[in-house]
Amino acid sequence: MFEVKEIKETALAENPVIERMSQYNHEQLLFCNDNATGLKAIIAVHNTTLGPALSRTRMWAYNNELEALHDVLRLSRGMTYKNAISGLNLGGGKAVIIGDARKQKNEALMRRFGKFVNSLAGKYITAEDVGISTADMSYVKMETDHVVGLPGKSGDPSPVTAYGVYMGMKAAAKLQFGSDSLSGKKIAVQGVGHVGEYLVEHLTKEGAKVSISDIHEDTLQRVAKKYNASVIGLEDIYSIDMDIYAPCALGATVNDDTLKKLKCSIIAGAANNQLRNEAIHGEVVKDKGIMYVPDFMINAGGVINCYAEVKSFSAEWAMTKAEEIYNRTISIINRSKESNIPTYKIANTMAEERINAIGNIKLPM
Ligand code: NAD
Repeated sequence: MFEVKEIKETALAENPVIERMSQYNHEQLLFCNDNATGLKAIIAVHNTTLGPALSRTRMWAYNNELEALHDVLRLSRGMTYKNAISGLNLGGGKAVIIGDARKQKNEALMRRFGKFVNSLAGKYITAEDVGISTADMSYVKMETDHVVGLPGKSGDPSPVTAYGVYMGMKAAAKLQFGSDSLSGKKIAVQGVGHVGEYLVEHLTKEGAKVSISDIHEDTLQRVAKKYNASVIGLEDIYSIDMDIYAPCALGATVNDDTLKKLKCSIIAGAANNQLRNEAIHGEVVKDKGIMYVPDFMINAGGVINCYAEVKSFSAEWAMTKAEEIYNRTISIINRSKESNIPTYKIANTMAEERINAIGNIKLPM
C-alpha cells in the first residue's frame, strides 16, 4: 500500500496534481478558492485507514502553487506516519492557506476556510500551525466542529511534547549508556522556545549538565539563569563535548557539515525533519554509532495532546500516552541493532505495519 512510485519528470509536468498524489498514495485533495475573502488553500488527506486525518493548518506566503502543493503533500504524509506510530486512531492530513498571515488573515477568510473543512464531514480535523493562532481557530469553529486547539481547551502542546522527548532521550540513554539516568550527562539543547525550555526543566531536575543555544539573546539568558544552564554559541553547539544533542529549533541540522563535528552518542530532540536527507544522513549517523531517535516519533506529544481534545481525554491521559515514547524508542533501537537498518527506516516500517494490520481487520460475517 505504501510503495513509493517513481514518476518521470515529464509525467509530473504534464499531470502535476494527480501524479504527485499517486506517488505517495494520497487519498484526496481539496482545492479551496473564494474570491470574496481572497482565500486560497489546499487540504490534503493522505490516509484515513486509522481514523480521520488530524493536523495543523499553516498559512504561508508560498512563492507559487506548486510549492504549496509540494508542502501539503509532504506534510500530510508525514502526519500519517506520526499518528500511526504513536498508536493514535488518526490518519494523516494537512492544510495550507496560501498568503501572508500578517496582511491577509481576517475573520471572514478563516470562517470561509472553516466551511471548506466542514465540507469534508470530519475526514479532516484541523488545528493551528505557523501563521495561525488559537483565536483564528475560534473563527474556524464557528463554521465546523472539526477543529481542535481552541482557546481554553487542550492548550499549549509543548509540555507534552517536551515530556515525550525527555522519555525518548532516557530510553536511548538506557541502551547507549546502560542506564536511563541522565544525571551528569552532558546535553546540548538547541533552541529554548516552547518545547526547549520545558525539556531543559526536566533535564536539570534530573541533574544533567545542560548547555543551551538560541538566536534570541533575551530568551537564552532568561532560561540559562532560571535553570543554571551553560550558554553556548549558535555554531559551537555542533562541536562541543556532549553526550546528547537535542535539536529543538530547526530542521536539517543533522547534515554533511554538522556530522563532521558532532561528537555526541545520541540525537534526540523535538525539531521536525532533523536529518537533512534521511536516506543519506540516517545511514551516516548509524555508521558513526550515534543513536538517532526518529523525530516524528519522539516529538508526537503535540498531536497526542490534540487527540486528547478530540476524544475529550484528560491532560493526564496525554502525559501517560507521551510516556509510551520510552518503550517505543527501545523497540525501534533494538530492531535497528538487530537488523543493522537505520532507526528512521525502522520507525517508518513500524508505522506502515500498524496501518496495514489495522487496514486488514475484516468485519465478522
Ligand atoms: P519555538 O518557536 O517556541 O522555539 C524555537 C526556538 O528556537 C526559539 O526560541 C528560537 O529563537 C530558537 N531558534 C531558532 N533558530 C535557532 C538556531 N539557529 N539556533 C538556536 N536556536 C534557534 O518552537 P517550539 O514550539 O518550541 O518547537 C521547537 C521545534 O519542535 C520546532 O521545530 C517545532 O516544529 C517542533 N515541534 C514542536 C511541537 C510543539 O508541541 N510545540 C511539537 C512537535 C514538533
